[in-house]
Amino acid sequence: MAERVQVTLDVQGMTCDGCAAHVEKAIRGVTDVEEANVPSWRAGRVTVTAGASVHHDALIEAVEGAGYRAQVRDRRAVREGQKFPSRGETYDLMVVGGGSAAFAAAIKAAELGAKVGLIEAGTIGGTCVNVGCVPSKTLIKAAELCYRSAYPRFEGLTACPPPSDWQRVIQQKDELVAALRQGKYVDVMKIYPSITLIQGRARLTGAKAISVNGVTHRPGKILVATGSLPWAPPIPGLAEAGFLDSTEALSLASLPQSLVVIGAGVIGLELGQLFARFGVRVMILEGGPHVAGAEEPEIGRALTQYLGEEKIRLCTGVRIERVERVGGEYAVHAVIDDKPEVCRAEQLLLATGRRPNTADLGLAEAGVEVGPHGEVKVDQHLQTANPDVYAAGDCIGEPMLVYVAAYGGGLAAENALTGTGRVYDLSALPHVIFTDPQVASVGLTERAAKAAGKAVKTAVLSLKDVPRALAARNTRGVFKLVADQETGKLLGAHILADDAGEVIQAATLAVRFGLRVQDLVETFHPYLTMAEGLKLAALTFDKDVAKLSCCAA
Ligand SMILES: Cc1cc2nc3c(=O)[nH]c(=O)nc-3n(C[C@H](O)[C@H](O)[C@H](O)COP(=O)(O)OP(=O)(O)OC[C@H]3O[C@@H](n4cnc5c(N)ncnc54)[C@H](O)[C@@H]3O)c2cc1C
Repeated sequence: MAERVQVTLDVQGMTCDGCAAHVEKAIRGVTDVEEANVPSWRAGRVTVTAGASVHHDALIEAVEGAGYRAQVRDRRAVREGQKFPSRGETYDLMVVGGGSAAFAAAIKAAELGAKVGLIEAGTIGGTCVNVGCVPSKTLIKAAELCYRSAYPRFEGLTACPPPSDWQRVIQQKDELVAALRQGKYVDVMKIYPSITLIQGRARLTGAKAISVNGVTHRPGKILVATGSLPWAPPIPGLAEAGFLDSTEALSLASLPQSLVVIGAGVIGLELGQLFARFGVRVMILEGGPHVAGAEEPEIGRALTQYLGEEKIRLCTGVRIERVERVGGEYAVHAVIDDKPEVCRAEQLLLATGRRPNTADLGLAEAGVEVGPHGEVKVDQHLQTANPDVYAAGDCIGEPMLVYVAAYGGGLAAENALTGTGRVYDLSALPHVIFTDPQVASVGLTERAAKAAGKAVKTAVLSLKDVPRALAARNTRGVFKLVADQETGKLLGAHILADDAGEVIQAATLAVRFGLRVQDLVETFHPYLTMAEGLKLAALTFDKDVAKLSCCAA
């Protein structure tokens, strides 16, 4: 079979279904083009399948000839032997789940011309918009504003601010969630008429069969995108006593006086600080030796100090023996610093991680393998042990991040339908913990680089040496860079700072494209931005930045 490519063009100027038809017709008239698909004029995109000799200019000229403008967005080889979607009665792709991975997959599939069935058992949009990123980050911002207005200067805090109007804040959060769910999920579906939403709980009932609402479908391909669920360890008494998970904590009708949080990972730290800033007395219990255990120890130590300054009691190396409810309170029996202690609070939040949501899905019947935590096992193309079933998002395990889910969903749909064989590549993946200050990190930590056998050098810069932090009177934080000893290439960047989540993007590009520390030094960084900390940290490898003049001169 001759080599074929799939080219995606962004098209401007389409205003109705007629425009979409014009563009498709114009493209189909180009030599070597097999198929052109505009999923909807609102999508502003056309996907073309053609012989490999097709030239971009010919496609663009055809679109322009029809009266529109176009640019090439993407071009990929289509693997030999792969059949393009059928456009028949059956679904080319059925997606189990209606969250971020599922939506990215459905949209990509629709752009490719596929007929898609998207099955959602609960609320459309899944975790991120409904009970995850969006509600948590808007509440964190509200808590920060409340806190900063109580403490315009951060250093030398002594007490917690007064509780504010929690019900109003929750109402505003719910309004935002509803608006984003509508705008980013419900309305988006209307742009793609070839996607059908099926409300119901799906189950795989064979190698290529899905059952939902009593109907069995036999789609061309299946994507499992069922997300994850909060996980609680088997602590004696916990199930009987009950507890909050993150979803319930983000919707509490009223603020408790006190809260014990079990787990000092991302969610435990973010929500622990959030509640403390609304005036709740918070204690965080962590079984591991550090908070934010995957981060650089310098960052974990500094964050522990800052949270302590906000009167959050943070205990590490804790052993929890049992939980009970006594007199309307939770009593967590723990061993802290080798001494038994009973930690009492009005509420208990479990933040001990999430596990893939894959039970009762019929995966075994479909020949799909799962790992020890229920994660769907996939190869580098996100294909499962069953070649007709792909999986993406939280259901394939860590890292559980929405941008990873969306990336995986799109890639899996494309691989499933066209066989382009795109490789799932999570190198240079940044992540952020939305505490204040934020933790943001990309690439290897010093420990991970050494474990990988690399000879490394590191630089650590306090925010006391970053002009932006001095000007903002908030010098809480640290930059740490990890570089290859020999080549000077940046291997990792780890930041604890105000807006670290914004700054990490520059470091992500540097790690991804193999830039050296010297490249950071030689790149302009605007004075009085937090991003300048990256350059200053890079300079720290060879110089004492405390002795430099302004602008790192
Ligand atoms: C409190 C919190 C804060 C977070 N903050 C961030 C953040 O700041 N940044 C970030 O990147 N990530 C964050 N995350 C993680 C992020 O929300 C997830 O990684 C992401 O939403 C996962 O998307 P998904 O599509 O894999 O799964 P989901 O969005 O969970 O979607 C799965 C969907 O599948 C449906 N489903 C399950 N089983 C079936 C079935 N049998 N039939 C039909 N439907 C089914 C479920 O109802 C669900 O809607 C946060 C998570 C939480 C809990």
